[in-house]
Amino acid sequence: MENCLFCKIATGKEGTKLIFQDRRVSAFNDIAPKAPIHILIVPRIHLTSVAEMTREHEPLIGYMINVARKIADEQKISSDGYRLVFNTRAHGGQVVDHIHLHLLGGHRLGSMV
Ligand code: AMP
Ligand code: ZN
Repeated sequence: MENCLFCKIATGKEGTKLIFQDRRVSAFNDIAPKAPIHILIVPRIHLTSVAEMTREHEPLIGYMINVARKIADEQKISSDGYRLVFNTRAHGGQVVDHIHLHLLGGHRLGSMV
C-alpha cells in the first residue's frame, strides 16, 4: 500500500522513532497521546482493520497483543494495568486505515464500556 501512512512508518520509511521492530511488527508513540503512555502496535504488512481479518491473520493479531504485553512490561505499567484497543471502521473511531493496536496506560483511564 504505497500511500498508507502506517505502512511507511512500520517499515521505517517515515523517520518515526520505533520503540520496537521485528520481522512482523513495529511499535511507536502515538503523535497525539490520550494517556501518559500511548503506543501503537502495527503489523508491517498492510491489513486495513479487524473487519478485514481472516484466519490466516490470527497468529499475527495474537502476536501484536503479545508485543503490547511485552512493551507494557518494559514501560512498567503492567502491575497497575493498561488498556488495549482496536478501533474498527467509522463507528469504531478508526481514522487510520491500517490495523493498529492502541496500548494506553500510565494513569487510571476512565471507563469506556
Ligand atoms: P485510530 O483513531 O484508531 O485510527 O487511531 C489513529 C491514531 O494514530 C491516532 O491516535 C493518531 O493520533 C495516531 N497518529 C496519526 N498519525 C500519526 C503519526 N504520524 N505518528 C504517530 N501516530 C499517529
Ligand atoms: Zn498500511
